[in-house]
Amino acid sequence: MLNIGGLTPCTAIDYPGELAAVVFCQGCPWRCAYCHNRHLLPEQADGTIRWEEVIRFLKRRQGLLDAVVFSGGEPTMQAWLPAAISTVKQLGFRVGLHTAGAFPKVLEQVLPLTDWVGMDIKAPFEAYEQVTGIPGSGESARMSAALVRTSGVSHQFRTTLDPWLLEDGRLERLQEMVTVGWGEKVVIQMI
Ligand code: SF4
Repeated sequence: MLNIGGLTPCTAIDYPGELAAVVFCQGCPWRCAYCHNRHLLPEQADGTIRWEEVIRFLKRRQGLLDAVVFSGGEPTMQAWLPAAISTVKQLGFRVGLHTAGAFPKVLEQVLPLTDWVGMDIKAPFEAYEQVTGIPGSGESARMSAALVRTSGVSHQFRTTLDPWLLEDGRLERLQEMVTVGWGEKVVIQMI
């Protein structure tokens, strides 16, 4: 079962143009200094709401909510994510996914089930370790971004404006990578 660290019943800001519930998945392998969801980082922590309760809640919201967003933590850390997404789709909701791209193989599996993806681009890929504290994180993110770009799934790349990103031309390199290299936009999020 999905290990869930929280549920937002209704939001208009987590999936562009849609009224959505947000399921916060427990666990993230990275340790960004600016993380706002530190209680969600330990993978093994007890969840705060059971998946069955989430399903009961969603059944009561059919026709009232448009979508369900899986956020985190890092949702793709949980092997049960594809099954959870399939269940939500069977209930008639569109599915959004927030990811930082730590697990490209799981992302590849869930992209065909997903209607919209918001992917964090934390830095130029060669500098990821300085943000996440984890060697190899930039390569995982690079692979995940390529999957998102070529998936045909509606998506948004965004970056968190950490002061570190403003030094040594990092933000400019990131923006150039996304806008010039990929022909996409990057949304700047304030901390
Ligand atoms: S990837 Fe996201 S959830 Fe994980 S530590 Fe970084 S900011 Fe927090």
